[in-house]
Amino acid sequence: MNLADSIRAIPDYPRPGIVFRDITTLLGDARAFRRAVDELVQPFAGLKIAKIAGIEARGFILGGAVAHQLSAGFIPVRKKGKLPLETLRATFALEYGTDEIEIHRDAVLPGERVLLVDDLIATGGTAEAAVNLLSGLGAEVVAACFIVDLPDLGGADKIRRLGVPVRTLVSFR
Ligand code: IMP
Repeated sequence: MNLADSIRAIPDYPRPGIVFRDITTLLGDARAFRRAVDELVQPFAGLKIAKIAGIEARGFILGGAVAHQLSAGFIPVRKKGKLPLETLRATFALEYGTDEIEIHRDAVLPGERVLLVDDLIATGGTAEAAVNLLSGLGAEVVAACFIVDLPDLGGADKIRRLGVPVRTLVSFR
């Protein structure tokens, strides 16, 4: 089974000219979902990961499964305005405008080893903001992992330049 075959391409979504990579088909396929989580986890077993940080919303689905496999805790990285207590917030660029993500200030302890998880990395703006939030709270971001890489958009390289190793399972050009 090839993981790439279980990911659907939706032309012209959310805008004309964009090919959206839809992982709901992978999530709905028991073998593909299990394989993807196993492959995401594999390099990190035994590395004493204390917490998984998952980016809303698909990063919650994958991150929860990864956290269970690694016996780690889970930190939700949320869109602004969703978390009930004091947060740290980061702004990042979108193609048109900006967006903001937040984590609770007490989500991580200084020195805790954290693995960042999301479904896909494109420009890397979202993941970079998440790394900055985690680092800002003193976490050690051990790596960032994604099912899908869009390498032409340079996101994985952007995160590596921050000194954070990146693992991806499937690339689409
Ligand atoms: P970036 O910040 O440009 O790297 O965009 C990555 C974020 O946007 C991730 O949270 C993804 O879930 C989402 N995203 C961007 N493009 C796609 C896509 O083609 N399929 C699914 N999610 C996408």
